[in-house]
Amino acid sequence: MNKKTLVFATNNNHKLLEVRQLLPEYKIISLAEINCFDDIPETENTLQGNAILKANYITKKFGYNCFADDTGLEVAALNNEPGVYSARYAGKENNSEKNMNKLLENLTNKKDRKAQFRTVVALNLDGNQYLFEGICKGNILEKKQGESGFGYDPIFQPLGYKKSFAQMSLEEKGEISHRGKAIHKLIKFLNTNT
Ligand code: IMP
Repeated sequence: MNKKTLVFATNNNHKLLEVRQLLPEYKIISLAEINCFDDIPETENTLQGNAILKANYITKKFGYNCFADDTGLEVAALNNEPGVYSARYAGKENNSEKNMNKLLENLTNKKDRKAQFRTVVALNLDGNQYLFEGICKGNILEKKQGESGFGYDPIFQPLGYKKSFAQMSLEEKGEISHRGKAIHKLIKFLNTNT
């Protein structure tokens, strides 16, 4: 049987690997695979707003059913910063090392290291739009640990674990991560509605 196709509005290979592993019953195609090399604006000031912006851009311009995600790291002691600005926390170039260094610096001597990753997924399916949210609670480590993953993974330790996201396999992270939880809600929805 042919797999159903859904565009995932991203060119982030880490995210694609994570989501393809979670959604094996669908053919998940990236922006590059639909020849979209546009710099899609992420100009809203909420995760939900940006996820909707990205999904709508693709559906409007290319006509595909698609989903888009936007994720932020919300740190309690920093009034939930960097939040929607996580990618460019230390500057426009979206440099993970610099972003992590800035966060660690801003948390120097702070006892409260509580943080959460929050993902919002917007799905455009056959003319309707649906939203799914996933949250993973944890703490910001004092130092980077591990080599896997991307973004802030080396400094984020999920609650109940003694290692960072960057010390987990794709499968292990996918089971408990913000994106994993949002995608599981998306899967449940797709399984009952398509
Ligand atoms: P995006 O806009 O959804 O790509 O996410 C914004 C930023 O949050 C990214 O550039 C990463 O720095 C960070 N981020 C998103 N998801 C993750 C994750 O699963 N682990 C670590 N960092 C992440």
